[in-house]
Amino acid sequence: MASDGSLPSGPIPGVSYPIHVRYCGNCSMPIEYCEYYPEYEKCKMWLEKNLPAEFDKLLREGEEGAGGEGEEKKRQKRGGKGLLKAKKKNEGPRAIKLSRAPRGKKKSVTVIAGLHTFGIDLKEASKYFATKFSCGSSVTGEDEIVIQGDVKDELFDILPEKWPDIDEDLIEDLGDQKR
Ligand SMILES: [Zn+2]
Repeated sequence: MASDGSLPSGPIPGVSYPIHVRYCGNCSMPIEYCEYYPEYEKCKMWLEKNLPAEFDKLLREGEEGAGGEGEEKKRQKRGGKGLLKAKKKNEGPRAIKLSRAPRGKKKSVTVIAGLHTFGIDLKEASKYFATKFSCGSSVTGEDEIVIQGDVKDELFDILPEKWPDIDEDLIEDLGDQKR
C-alpha cells in the first residue's frame, strides 16, 4: 500500500538540521545555486511543488537582490554561512597599502601593496601604472608594485576608478617608509 506522489522530500517540520542545506530535486544542487543552473525555470517549478516555503524565500530574495543594501540582512536571516562563503573568492581582509620611499636624493617611489587581495593581476596592474603615469613600474614582491615616481595621491583616485572593487576607504596611507 504505497501512497503515490507523497515521497518524502525536503525537511520534516520540527526537525532541526545542523546545516540548512536543501538540495534541489531538479538539478541536485543546493537550492541557493539553482539560479546558476541553466534550467532554473524547471528548478523553480520543482521548488514550488516540493519546498514552497523555500521557493517563496528565493523569489523574495531575487526581487530584493538588485538593491545592495538588503544584502547584509539577508545573510543574517539565512544563518548558514557555509554556502555564502563558497561564493566569495578572496579570503582574508582586502586592503591596499600605499607608501612612499626615497629614491636618491630628490626622487621617491610609490609602493603599492595589497592589490592581490582584490584578485588583481599584478603584472597587468604594473603595466597600467607605467602607461598611466608614463614612468617605470615593476612588480617587486608577491603583492607589491613599485612605481618610479611620487604618485601616491593620484592613486587614491585612480585605484577605485580603475578597479571599482577598491573602495577609497580600503586604501591606507602608510606615509613615507624606508625600504
Ligand atoms: Zn535546481
